[in-house]
Amino acid sequence: MSETTVIEHNVTGQDFSQRDHLVYAGPPMIDIHSHVTITKEGDQASGPAGGAGAAGSSDQAALMLDIAQDFGIGLTVSMCPVQDIAPLRERLGNRIAFNAMIFKKPEEEDEVAYRQLDAFLEAGIDILKLWSAPRGRDRGLLLDLPWRVETIRRARAAGVRTVMVHVGDPDRWFQTVYTDSAKYGTKLDQYIPLRRLMDEFNDMIWIGAHLGGDPEHPDHLEALIEAYPQIHFDTSATKWQVREVSQQRDALRSLIQRHPDRFLFGSDLVTRHALTAEHYMSRYWCQRTLWESDWVGRSPIQDPDHVVEPEGGTTPMLRGLALPAAVLQQVYCDNAKRILQR
Ligand SMILES: [Zn+2]
Repeated sequence: MSETTVIEHNVTGQDFSQRDHLVYAGPPMIDIHSHVTITKEGDQASGPAGGAGAAGSSDQAALMLDIAQDFGIGLTVSMCPVQDIAPLRERLGNRIAFNAMIFKKPEEEDEVAYRQLDAFLEAGIDILKLWSAPRGRDRGLLLDLPWRVETIRRARAAGVRTVMVHVGDPDRWFQTVYTDSAKYGTKLDQYIPLRRLMDEFNDMIWIGAHLGGDPEHPDHLEALIEAYPQIHFDTSATKWQVREVSQQRDALRSLIQRHPDRFLFGSDLVTRHALTAEHYMSRYWCQRTLWESDWVGRSPIQDPDHVVEPEGGTTPMLRGLALPAAVLQQVYCDNAKRILQR
């Protein structure tokens, strides 16, 4: 048997220049969730981005943003190491803005986080990101630890108005990865500290990354929307959204139509030193196909969380929502513009 190399971003041989079904014709889109960084040789193929520092290259960042532009995106908000901000801004100008992801090891003093925040504030940021996926517990990254609450307080005092959080992960991971429920809690448990923080900081705008981490449960998303006028959800994490949103196309479409001011376009694309242009295209192509077209077919992107059905199909079905033009403009542009005050 011969080994065949699977192209992760294009298993089905999709022609990404085929874009007649992409009908959005409104103002330039805003990608509110990405990881555009300076890259250097030896970048990991996956895993969290960053750490490359300013000594690397901005070529991948420029490549990604050129392709973004080709897909109608005028502004990309990036999470990157603080030292990457100046060189990226110099190369990409007003096509890029920044979201400060603050990390600290459990054994480090709280000051480590506050110094990071100060550096980000000095460099110029629009959003504060608190990453708190269930697996973050292994690294002590609970959402509502005192140092995180204080970080939000300080960011707010410095004029930052928006907090992005990652709290949920796919339902499937609670069956495969987070099986130790005494340690990780249930999926719903992840939202308890988020609710508490949104109560405390109810004058700030909150963005739940990856459709709030719960595209599997549109009813839960709607309950959050109704309880918290300040909560928004971004569409990022393309594989996850394609897989789950397609399965509940009608429920998600009507949810977004009922609350079109609460959803934001996001890709979650990450720059890597050796990526091809087609990798970046695959995510933009799938995202836009999902939200604005009625395209139905196998997703071109390989998805390790896809359970292969008996009738075949190595990737999930992508079923486009075909959102109306006015709703699309809110999701693609207007809501982010309002939040970023651009
Ligand atoms: Zn991300």
